[in-house]
Amino acid sequence: MSKKIRLVDENGIRTDGRKPDELRPIKLEVGILNNADGSAYIEQGKNKILAAVYGPREVHPRHLALPDRALLRCRYHMAPFSVQERKSPAPSRREVELSKVIREALEPAIFLERFPRTSIDLFIEVLQADGGTRAAGVTVASLALADAGMPMRDLVAACAAGKADGYIVLDLNDIEDKEGEADVPVAYMPSLNAVGLLQMDGQLTPEEFEQAFNLAIEGCKRIYELQKQALKAKYLAIKEAVEEAVE
Ligand code: ADP
Repeated sequence: MSKKIRLVDENGIRTDGRKPDELRPIKLEVGILNNADGSAYIEQGKNKILAAVYGPREVHPRHLALPDRALLRCRYHMAPFSVQERKSPAPSRREVELSKVIREALEPAIFLERFPRTSIDLFIEVLQADGGTRAAGVTVASLALADAGMPMRDLVAACAAGKADGYIVLDLNDIEDKEGEADVPVAYMPSLNAVGLLQMDGQLTPEEFEQAFNLAIEGCKRIYELQKQALKAKYLAIKEAVEEAVE
């Protein structure tokens, strides 16, 4: 089958002007919704994703409550206007799967055992999608959990790497995701050196897989620094507002 789209040019530059090991521009904001216990927003390239957290709170229905820890529930949802062709607002199989893998990537980071018989409810709303939304969803959800004051072992940063036109590339966009040879999303807790999500779509040799995995971890480490900056920015803004009010 002949390929229609060239993903990396002769100078090693990708369709959006990036080098193979470059992340898309990332903007992170924390504490942006009044009515949730914690919230955060991410723009990663053309992705725009909002996360909101409630809890720990009473579980409904009550029979779902766990005697020894909090129940983490996660809903990943893509808005009908998030992709070019209107998406049905009803949850698709893909959204059910992504809700599960995102929950499993975040669970090890939270001290769930401190809140038995409660639930922590996490909502991830994809407003605009451009590839890599599960990874960006983990990154933003982890910030929303931290914003809710959830006791956590670490922040979880996530990023994909993969292969496009024979190059191992970081942080695939939508065309690279669809037309490229492989996609390896990874979620990582840097200070624990622990991986909470590792998937692979496509074909890679064992050597290429190792390269892509290491590149994804490098991407996670860069995103982790941005996450910490975003959390600090919220508290610096509060501090400045308090100082101004006191003056
Ligand atoms: P991820 O967003 O984690 O990479 P996928 O690999 O399943 O997850 O999806 C890749 C991209 O395909 C998404 O980010 C989005 O841009 C696009 N996409 C997903 N679902 C749809 C859909 N129903 N209609 C159009 N595009 C979609």
